[in-house]
Amino acid sequence: MLRHLLHRLPRTCLCCHSLHRETGPLCAACATALPRNQNPCSRCAEPQAMAGQLCARCQKKPPPFQQVIAPWIYEDAVARLIQRFKFSGELAAADALWPALAEAMSPLDIAALVPVPVHDHRHHERGFNQALWLADRLARPGRLPVLEALHKHRNTADQVGLTRSQRQKNLRHAFRLSRPTVPECVALVDDVVSSTATASQCSRLLKQAGARQVYVLALARTPREN
Ligand SMILES: [Zn+2]
Ligand SMILES: [Zn+2]
Repeated sequence: MLRHLLHRLPRTCLCCHSLHRETGPLCAACATALPRNQNPCSRCAEPQAMAGQLCARCQKKPPPFQQVIAPWIYEDAVARLIQRFKFSGELAAADALWPALAEAMSPLDIAALVPVPVHDHRHHERGFNQALWLADRLARPGRLPVLEALHKHRNTADQVGLTRSQRQKNLRHAFRLSRPTVPECVALVDDVVSSTATASQCSRLLKQAGARQVYVLALARTPREN
């Protein structure tokens, strides 16, 4: 009864502040305008010009993970929503984005979710690990286990805005395994894939712990680097 009533009450759109009666946190116009990752690279999900393409980097050197699933492009309203989620802890902003990821991952036969860890200091500053929060949301429908199998033992600068080589240097030896074994098919969970440096590092570690296939689930992928 209460639920029924709540559904009928108009809500304020998180983006344009207009009143609406959609089930999600955005009005229909703002939800439709979010940049979808329509033509992702079939391995790293970097936006491509056409569907079903493999980007030049993945052609040259196949990544250690199976595939990145990232339904949105990290730009415009999607970037603003993710920043509100990540830096202000505004969970409703993520509620506008994660259902598309839950849908995109549903055909995969994943045995466990592994959130990309944040360093303890940063966790303390922000009050929560956004990747763990996201993994909990994605695990709920299928009751998948969420394994905190990785630990970040070095605080690294934020990856967004760094060059490729800066990012790799920044991340070298930043992660460690915190459990000896993981299931054969696991998925790493992160909010944004901005390069594949973090995903590659973490995938290699999970493979050392017995994973054969590692998927990467993220809300968004940054646009193509030039
Ligand atoms: Zn709106
Ligand atoms: Zn690629």
